[in-house]
Amino acid sequence: MSAYRGRFAPTPSGPLHFGSLIAALGSFLDARHFGGKWLVRIEDIDPPRCPAGASDTILRQLEAFGLCWDEDIRYQQTRGDAYQEALDRLLQDGLVYPCSCSRKQWRNHPIYPGWCRAGVREPGMPVAWRWRSDLGIRPVEWSDRLFGCQTLDPAEFGDVILKRKDDLWAYQLAVVVDDADQGITDIVRGYDLLDNTPWQRQLQIALGASQPDYLHLPLIIGPDGQKLSKQNLAAPLPYQGDAVRDQLYRALIALDQSPPKALADATVHDQLEFAIHHWEVGKLPANTQRQEPGW
Ligand code: GLU
Repeated sequence: MSAYRGRFAPTPSGPLHFGSLIAALGSFLDARHFGGKWLVRIEDIDPPRCPAGASDTILRQLEAFGLCWDEDIRYQQTRGDAYQEALDRLLQDGLVYPCSCSRKQWRNHPIYPGWCRAGVREPGMPVAWRWRSDLGIRPVEWSDRLFGCQTLDPAEFGDVILKRKDDLWAYQLAVVVDDADQGITDIVRGYDLLDNTPWQRQLQIALGASQPDYLHLPLIIGPDGQKLSKQNLAAPLPYQGDAVRDQLYRALIALDQSPPKALADATVHDQLEFAIHHWEVGKLPANTQRQEPGW
C-alpha cells in the first residue's frame, strides 16, 4: 500500500465558507490521523470565475484554522501542458472528440446526445473536447468509505467536456491529471462531487493512473434549507479572533466527532490535536446533507 497522500482542492471563486471548512477539515484530519501528507491545490482553471485575491484569502483562512499543508501549493493555471498531453493521449486512443454543438441545440435532451461522436456537425465552428463516456469502463463500481458500494454508469451522465470551446480546461480532466501527478491516494470532499467520480474513474483507467480511495462528506445546509455555497452567498469563514476556534468546534460537531464541551474554549491547536487523534470515519453522519449546527 502506498503512503497516504490527501489533498484539499478549492476553486478560488470566493473565500471559504462553513461548508468548505468541512471539506478542508475532513480531508486534513483524515490525512493527519493516518500519518499522511496533506496538499493544497488551487483549482483556478476558470479565471473569469476567480476574483483577484480569492486564492490568498483561502490560504490565510486555512492557516488561521491551523490547517498547514505539506509541499508547495499547486496552481492549476500553470498546468496547461500536462492537461494537453493527457488530452492528446485520449484523442489518440479515440476516447475524445471535438464537438461544435451549443447547449441550446440540445436543450430538449436530458444529457448531450453525442451527435458529434460521428464527426463535428458544424466544421469551422469553435469546438469543445468531449469524453466518450460510452467507451470507458462501465458501469463504474467503487466503495465510498462513508457511503459504501456505488455503481454508476457514466454514459447515463453524458459525454463530459474536458476542454471548453473558449480553450479553458474543464474540471474533470484537470482533477484527474493532478491527482495522478501528485500521487493522491485518498480523496475526501463534498457529497456534491460523488456523481463526478465515475467519469474520474474512467479517466484514471484510460490514462493508466492509479485509483484513489474516496470519502464523500455530507453537504452542509443553512437555516434556509439551501446548501451552503458561494452561489448562495454563504457567509465567508471568519479567520480572526475567537471566531476561528468557535467555527472549528462547530465543524467538529457537524462531522459528529463528539468533541468534549471543554474543547469549545480550547486553542485551535488543541482542538486540532484532539480531532486528529480521535478522528473516526465510522462516526461521520452517513447522510447526504447535514443541517449547519447552531451556536
Ligand atoms: N475544486 C472543487 C471545488 O472547489 C473540488 C474538487 C475536488 O475536490 O475534487 O468544489
